[in-house]
Order: sequence, then C-alpha cells, then structure tokens
Amino acid sequence: MTRIPVLAAAKLSPLYSALLERHFRFIDRLHEGDAAAFAALAPSIRALAASGDSRVGAELIARLPALEIIAVMGVGYDGIDLAAAKARGAVVTHTPDVLNDDVADLALALMLSAARQLPAADRWVRAGRWAREGAMPLARKMAGARLGLVGIGRIGQAIAQRAAAFGMTIAYTARSARPALRYRFEPDLIALAAASDFLVVITPGGAGTRHLVDAAVLRALGPKGILVNVARGSVVDEAALIEALEAGTLGGAALDVFADEPHVPERLCALPQVVLSPHIGSATTATRQAMAELACANLQAHFAGRPPPSPVPECR
Ligand code: NAP
Repeated sequence: MTRIPVLAAAKLSPLYSALLERHFRFIDRLHEGDAAAFAALAPSIRALAASGDSRVGAELIARLPALEIIAVMGVGYDGIDLAAAKARGAVVTHTPDVLNDDVADLALALMLSAARQLPAADRWVRAGRWAREGAMPLARKMAGARLGLVGIGRIGQAIAQRAAAFGMTIAYTARSARPALRYRFEPDLIALAAASDFLVVITPGGAGTRHLVDAAVLRALGPKGILVNVARGSVVDEAALIEALEAGTLGGAALDVFADEPHVPERLCALPQVVLSPHIGSATTATRQAMAELACANLQAHFAGRPPPSPVPECR
C-alpha cells in the first residue's frame, strides 16, 4: 500500500518522527534543503507534522496544494498560520491535556526555585561559600503566599490544584470568569498583580496575548513579587522585565520561555535572582511519548476518514 507523505515542517522530537516513519512516508524538512526535489514532491504532500514551537507560515502552506492536516506535537499552536490553513481547508490538531501535569509540576518547581533561591543555593555549596562564609542570605516562604494566575485553562487549573496543597490563596485573570472554579476571578491584570506574591503566566501565545505582562503589571507585582512564565515568551515584555529586575522594582523571576528562543539575553543571565530553564515544560520522556502518540493519532484518524481526536478549537 502506498504510504501517505507527511512533511516535517521543522525539526521534530525523535519520538514523533519514529511514529511517523512507522505509519507514513516521512519526509524530513525537504523544503529547507533540495528545492527541486521539494518542488517535485510538494503537490503530493497531504500532511504537515510540526512541534509546539514550529513556524508554519502562509508561504509553506501555499506550496502544498494537497494539504489536508497540520498535526502539531504540543498544545500551543501560535506558530501556525491558522488563517492560511483554514483557507486551504486544512485542519490543525494539537496535543492538549497529556502535558498538563508536567507543565504544572515545572511551574511549581520554578516558583519554589525562585522563592527559595535553589540555583543560588546550589552555586553557594559548589563554590565553597558555605564553608568559607557560612549561611546564605535568607529566602522567601512560598507556603501560604498569594498566587495570581494569568490564564486558568487546562494547565492553569493543574497549577492551582498544586498551589492549593501549599496553602496558597489563589486568584486568576482571563477574558472570562469560570464560575465553576472556587478561585477568585480578577478581571484586571494590574489589580491581580498588585494582590499577588507570585504571578504565574499560563495563557496561549500569539497576537492576542502579546506583552500582556508589561511594565505596569510588573510595577504592580512589585519589589517583593515573583513572576513565573511557563506560557510563551511573547506574553511578557522581556525588555520591561529586565529593566524591572535590574532596578529592583520586581523581586524575582523564573522563566521557561523567552522572546527569541533559544537566545536568552545576557542581561537576564547576569541576574542572580532569576531562575532560567530552556523551555522544558513538557520535557519528560513519558509526556513527550504521550504527545507524540496523540499527534500521530490525529493523523491516523484523519486519513482513516474519522475526525481527529484533538483539533484546535478554531477547527472544531
Ligand atoms: P487553555 O486550556 O486554552 O487555557 C488558556 C487560558 O488562557 C484560559 O484560561 C484562557 O481564558 C486564558 N487566556 C487566553 N487568552 C487570554 C487573554 N488575552 N488574556 C487573559 N487570559 C487569556 O491552554 P492550556 O492547555 O492551559 O495551555 C496554555 C499555554 O501554555 C499553551 O497555549 C502554551 O503556549 C503554553 N505551554 C507551555 C509549555 C512549556 O513548555 N512551557 C508547555 C505547554 C503549554 P479565556 O479564554 O477566558 O481568556
């Protein structure tokens, strides 16, 4: 039987490409290399495989007249030109829910790391400062503190559950209140920041949330406040964040995502009160395997004539 050609739009997780190789005719980023070979193959390509941080623009979509589906391995799909995909009649799928636990776990790990200064504590021991200078400066208590969540979707709720176990007071903002949740809704982000010790950002990226956390929000969070971003770098005004941290008008930050990944500004790296991780929210073997399987299941369902299990909301 002829295998359906699936083009990798960008470098994929080996877990995803292994499944694609098993079930499809996997074509790895041909559009980035041999132009003539790609031109010959492009009319037959019916699917694109992408990751959460892939860019799939209108230009690539325009070169694939037979495109039916874009299967993203990741819950965020802000890199996909949805309008171009929809205009082509292609469905876009993603992998929600299977990564909630990991991203929420990381958010709590980052909150604790920033509050208790874990990377600095590790450096203190390794540099021999404990033996030479004694105890390190005192840190912040997290249990019982006030948490403000920017976004209370699948992952935001998983973060809230964990924070509740730390006895934290939980409030959130979003475009609409969720009355079924027992947390306080605060429609105004600046008011939420002013009433929070920790502000955790967990919205989608894209134009709708660009620089939602700006200088005014950071000022409201204040010199004792800690900003945690596990959403997308675009949601926080990174220049304003660096200025606030350098000036001491913001207490600290813990960041898994950045404006121009994988490049992290040197000024951010130079700040000892900042905890940095390289976009590892869902980066455990178990979760990445589950994401790869769900991404592949979307393709398999589509080509078997069934509705894919997890289309993005705009394609439902
Ligand atoms: P979700 O279930 O769709 O939740 C998104 C939340 O953001 C909702 O509460 C939504 O509420 C709110 N929101 C959307 N636009 C907003 C706006 N303009 N202002 C305020 N709130 C807004 O998504 P999820 O599954 O929790 O995932 C959230 C995001 O996390 C993903 O899109 C992805 O970018 C990021 N993520 C990062 C990693 C990582 O490795 N660091 C891993 C996975 C996901 P309303 O619709 O009511 O506004």
